[in-house]
Amino acid sequence: MSKGIKMLSAVDARGARHSVDSLQTQHDNNLATPALFCDSPNCGSAVRFVKRHTKNRIDRVEPIHVPAYIGLSRGSEHILGCRYDAPGRLKLILAAASDPNFMHALDDGKRELRLLILHRGLKDKGASGNAATPPPSVTGNSPQRPTGFRATHQQLDSYLRTTTDLLALRAACDDDELLAAQLTLRFGEHTLTWQDFFFESGRYDEVWDKLAPGAQLDMPLALLGTVKSHRSPPASATYTTTYLNCESQYNRTDDPNRQEYFEVSVSHEDGVWLQTFPAGSQLIMFGLWRRGKTTESTKPHPRDATRIMTYVTHKLSPAPPSKRQLAGVT
Ligand SMILES: [Zn+2]
Repeated sequence: MSKGIKMLSAVDARGARHSVDSLQTQHDNNLATPALFCDSPNCGSAVRFVKRHTKNRIDRVEPIHVPAYIGLSRGSEHILGCRYDAPGRLKLILAAASDPNFMHALDDGKRELRLLILHRGLKDKGASGNAATPPPSVTGNSPQRPTGFRATHQQLDSYLRTTTDLLALRAACDDDELLAAQLTLRFGEHTLTWQDFFFESGRYDEVWDKLAPGAQLDMPLALLGTVKSHRSPPASATYTTTYLNCESQYNRTDDPNRQEYFEVSVSHEDGVWLQTFPAGSQLIMFGLWRRGKTTESTKPHPRDATRIMTYVTHKLSPAPPSKRQLAGVT
């Protein structure tokens, strides 16, 4: 069922190692791709190279570039314990998350992830800098209706870690099939699909619309970005915030001389920590989101100086970001 975790290298029948980059180069030079196998110890499952390609998006969104990767061949599965075994990794995450207030076992064997608890915890944290402590009487309540439950600081950290682990796994897989089959996303009375909750580049404009004043979105969302750059404060600066910017999404508009960009940006006091997510890597950002600044600039078209182009950039930021809300995708 699962397509496994996207891989960046594999071996051929003679045991020679191939990276996605070398396979892409071979492909670009019209050379045949050898039969490939998983390079995790003792696994050796049949895998295939998926070349770099573009994925078309709806409306005005420019096609998204999908980097080359190596995935399972049809009908092939990684062995248990293989580092690319997605069901195995999911099992480990779920086994570590035993708190029924957050991860509740349902009758059909699925688990329910309770986002309302995260939402409350993140809101409390935003207000006071610390998560609230649960009132002692709540702990005995049925986990079926956790209406009054509030996570302690420690619990919130642990729930956030589980959530970002799950999101990183989702990002490492090709689609949401595996996670959707085993996890129900619940926000209060509502059941969400992964589509409602997890947004890749190409869907940042949807998040922007959800955050419109009056749209009344008030729930945590997960965004996946590719790190583009870091901006640390210069030595002379009086501020200490470092910014991490992700690759922007580009949308066409009705006006050919006007282009819109959606950029996800995270700021934090700990610049060294933000630098641990290097440019080019994929990053999970989970939490409550806000619309940042919209900036507009005009300049002549690069190849046609008679056209004056207007570039509009909308910034999206998590609010407030804490270290548990970011995770690299490996
Ligand atoms: Zn394997």
